[in-house]
Amino acid sequence: MIIDSTKMLIPDNYSLDDSGEITGITQSLLGSWQVCKRRFLYQINGWYHPMKVKNMEYGSMNHEVLDKLYTGHFQGSIKPGDFIDVITETISGYKMSDVFTQEEQQNLKAIAQAVMESYVVYYAKDFQEMRLEAIEETFEIQYICALLRGKIDGRFADKHKGLWHLEHKNYSQINADTLLLKLTFDLQNLFYYLADYLRRNRMLLGVLYNVVRKPSVKKALSNSEIYTYLKDLIRKTPKHYFLRYEIPYGLVDILPFMDSLERKLDLLRGEIEEVRREPERTQVVFYKNECACEMPYSCEFLNVCATCRMVGYRQKSIFSELDLPNNNQTI
Ligand code: SF4
Repeated sequence: MIIDSTKMLIPDNYSLDDSGEITGITQSLLGSWQVCKRRFLYQINGWYHPMKVKNMEYGSMNHEVLDKLYTGHFQGSIKPGDFIDVITETISGYKMSDVFTQEEQQNLKAIAQAVMESYVVYYAKDFQEMRLEAIEETFEIQYICALLRGKIDGRFADKHKGLWHLEHKNYSQINADTLLLKLTFDLQNLFYYLADYLRRNRMLLGVLYNVVRKPSVKKALSNSEIYTYLKDLIRKTPKHYFLRYEIPYGLVDILPFMDSLERKLDLLRGEIEEVRREPERTQVVFYKNECACEMPYSCEFLNVCATCRMVGYRQKSIFSELDLPNNNQTI
């Protein structure tokens, strides 16, 4: 099916606030709008490119393992002796996209198995001492003109009962210096921080940013060799693969963030209202930002922006990442 992207509009059933059938905004959708309004237009219509899934699938699989492990700890349903079984079952049962060959799937699963088995050894204390009070919790909260939506990886109390968000990230490349600077005003962290404050009227202390580095395997190895090679490599240099940053936030961070968020949401609301009045202006209002096409990787919508045809693209529900099971678990 070939679809002419120049006819694309904001969906009729979408609303930025809570009044429509499809409602609200996530930090990732807002981030897309900030980077490129045309990218937002594609995403609000549910479009994505299978190659994007390919780049993200390894991280999604590891995220699911972390979810199972921390949920098990939170619910008291798994013990350290169960970790390997949980990791193996989650990874072997993970259904990858059909854009992967069988060999690629097995290769990624061998890497994930080695990384996650090493993770539970390195962070064994998490599963004895971490005082979790929420895991994979979704939120929806009206703020100014928008319904803020999202899902936190976890929330826990430190030994002084101060509350922190837990955020898991799977990265291939990390520049710790620039990452730390950027995290002082990170959109996702502050978006979730604000949502938490609005919902529960309590200030978090900050975010524990839990980075798991994906190792690269350059040699031609079998899957069992990959597993053994990585287990050994990570055991020798675990700090290279597992990094944690405590990012404290307070009023000095959240107040300017609220000002800028209000401004952004107001602009976005105005743009949606404008194209609802004059649909023929949609491509002008949601214009292409040609400066953002390679930052640093090629944008998944480069093909359609160049050809105006949605060839090779697929559609899904806009907020599918929030529709996964195992959410809303709080105590
Ligand atoms: S390819 Fe460039 S212009 Fe097109 S959506 Fe992506 S960033 Fe925007």
